[in-house]
Amino acid sequence: MRQVIIAGNWKMNASKEVTNILVMDILSGMVNVKSKVIVCVPFPYMAQVEALVGCSQLNLGAQDLNINKSGAFTGEVSVDMIKDFGARYVIVGHSERRSLYFENNEIVAQKVQVALNNNLTPLLCIGELLEERNSGKTQEVVSEQIQTVIDLVGIDAFKDIIVAYEPVWAIGTGITATPKQAQDIHSFIRSILAKHDENVSKITPILYGGSMNPRNASELINCKDIDGGLIGGASLKAQDFLQICKAS
Ligand code: PEP
Repeated sequence: MRQVIIAGNWKMNASKEVTNILVMDILSGMVNVKSKVIVCVPFPYMAQVEALVGCSQLNLGAQDLNINKSGAFTGEVSVDMIKDFGARYVIVGHSERRSLYFENNEIVAQKVQVALNNNLTPLLCIGELLEERNSGKTQEVVSEQIQTVIDLVGIDAFKDIIVAYEPVWAIGTGITATPKQAQDIHSFIRSILAKHDENVSKITPILYGGSMNPRNASELINCKDIDGGLIGGASLKAQDFLQICKAS
């Protein structure tokens, strides 16, 4: 059975003070949480969060990585730097990186490969735009996004990848995919994996992301092929985030 995973994506939010309060509040509410919980925080706060989480069950993640080891890449952050702060997870291919920073499927696949080669678990984000959904292209888009990664890293690597299906039209909009819309695509993604390797398809976690909140989390997470959530806005409110963590 796949463990439920709840990952928070703080994006470019918080401050030293907010980080302190948010992490302390999450930690103090985590008794009885059975899910794996990850917070993907902005780079400047990673050291602070590393110290706060200590050996607790709260896991630290980053929001992006650069594929190079080190060198003249102004403003960028390498996997070694991310690992230096005790992080074991990294978001790759978030739709904001794809649209605002022009990361295409090939770049995303390379980032997944670098994360895996360095023992970081990638949270691989995939998902269609509204116009793609409206023109019946959801499956085509999602399958191309995932296939590019399979082509580069191989299906076996998906034992160590967390997939996050995030319909772009649902991210930060307050419009959540219905459980049926989400389950249909999750099941489709699992079928793509299964075409390559049935066993791998059964163990790869597939999270849903897009306006998940305490009111809709339970119904989504209880769908057969939805193994948790990648949470943006609601991960910035400790009580909302904790309720989602307890929703499964
Ligand atoms: C996200 O940015 O990955 C996300 C799911 O955001 P939100 O929950 O705010 O829609």
